[in-house]
Amino acid sequence: MESSEQSLPSPAINPPWRHDKILYLPHGAYLPTDTCVRCGHKAVKVVSKSIRNPRNLSTWYSRQTTVDIGLCKIHKDDNSVGTALTYSVLSIGVIILITGVITLGIATLVIGLLAIAVSGIFRARTLIYTSNTNVEPLPIKGACESYLEQFPSFEVEEDS
Ligand SMILES: [Zn+2]
Repeated sequence: MESSEQSLPSPAINPPWRHDKILYLPHGAYLPTDTCVRCGHKAVKVVSKSIRNPRNLSTWYSRQTTVDIGLCKIHKDDNSVGTALTYSVLSIGVIILITGVITLGIATLVIGLLAIAVSGIFRARTLIYTSNTNVEPLPIKGACESYLEQFPSFEVEEDS
């Protein structure tokens, strides 16, 4: 495991912290799961969420850092619908793509690829996501303000 040179305040395990609307999750840190990450209401379910980058295709279906988050009833439903939609669009896309390959239909191929791309970005962007999967601590976007408020705020120092 490589580790980046970051000068953060370092207790045994760094707790998550925030800057602006972004939550920073140091390696090994946990997020509180008693409140919904999206709205701050009481959480009814804890889900393991892979943190993906909607702008980076290689993170859409590969193994990424997972973090346990709490979700309220509404956002739990959103999450289930998002997952279901992603997989149905993905499987349709794959079927169309295979049809395109078999029939050598370029248009069919493109439609299949598009469906796969749309399903991927949809899932990658659901609930919480990141702008960069390769940095430590992991920046997480999508958490609501009241959820963010429970974390200490630090300035990001570009050079130290
Ligand atoms: Zn919620």
